[in-house]
Amino acid sequence: MKKIIVTGGSGLVGKHLQEILPNATYLSSKDCDLTDIKMVRWLISSYTPDIVIHLAAKVGGIQDNIAKPAEYFDDNILMNTNILKVSHEYKVKRFIGILSTCIYPDQVDLYPMKEEVLFNGPPTPTNFSYGYAKRVLAVQIEAYNKQYGTEYNYITPCNLYSEYDNFDNDKKMHFITALLKKIKTSDKELNLLGTGKPLRQFMYAGDLARIIKEMIDKNIYENFNIAYPKNQTIHELAKKALGVLNKNLYIKYNKPKLDGQYRKDVDITKMLNLFPDFRFTSYEEGIKKVYDKLS
Ligand code: NAP
Repeated sequence: MKKIIVTGGSGLVGKHLQEILPNATYLSSKDCDLTDIKMVRWLISSYTPDIVIHLAAKVGGIQDNIAKPAEYFDDNILMNTNILKVSHEYKVKRFIGILSTCIYPDQVDLYPMKEEVLFNGPPTPTNFSYGYAKRVLAVQIEAYNKQYGTEYNYITPCNLYSEYDNFDNDKKMHFITALLKKIKTSDKELNLLGTGKPLRQFMYAGDLARIIKEMIDKNIYENFNIAYPKNQTIHELAKKALGVLNKNLYIKYNKPKLDGQYRKDVDITKMLNLFPDFRFTSYEEGIKKVYDKLS
């Protein structure tokens, strides 16, 4: 059996992967700080994995990204560089990098964005350094494949949501979780940040975990986008959530400057050609799963 290690195994996506890939080794920052190359050498030399699934990243909301751009850049660049370099040094056969649609240009001529527009402009200013650091991993993986003949790859998921999100930490919570928590605790009025106009694809994190497992099972080495097929405004998403949960609240918007990128939808034709039978968890099903876990 192939030995698999998963960095970022204690995170939201890692927890979904644990459910369907139980024989892998799941690591958190407490097991190994990936920003420290000596620790990474110790990690890979002791586990000698065949496959590294690299989920670990410094991830956060818009306000934290604006406040600490240097930390987001340094931590992600160091983690990615160390784990990729050392995986190659120790002849790891398969390396899967998880990027994010934040790596794409802030604006392009044609939406949804296909994989090939990646370098057609800078990422959005609100998470420029996180987006750039993660974009660099795509460059690094391609460079290793060209120079060393490795078959490493990366996939680029859209925004995620999950019942494993951190319900108690308002700074780390993802949009859908924060929305559902507000719905649960609001009476008459639902107060949201921004204008409600930005368009987003939100995918249930368990779907990303299933694709990662299928890539390994089916020996797929392509780089591709993965995203929920529907691109909806924040207002539509909020209204849909209220409908699914049978709640009647008036939606009010505050702080219009906190909208973030207007749209960043990605094209998933390549992914659907590779996994023609893949069934996404519907937004309605996903919302119910997360809402049920809110205390
Ligand atoms: P998450 O819940 O924030 O978890 C981050 C993981 O990275 C945790 O396991 C954390 O360990 C680990 N980590 C952080 N700093 C580390 C360090 N210095 N050394 C070692 N490990 C470290 O992240 P996620 O939401 O599961 O995201 C997984 C991947 O998907 C990331 O690469 C992210 O960029 C990408 N992604 C996420 C989203 C989203 O909406 N969540 C969207 C697109 C792409 P501790 O538990 O010890 O802190």
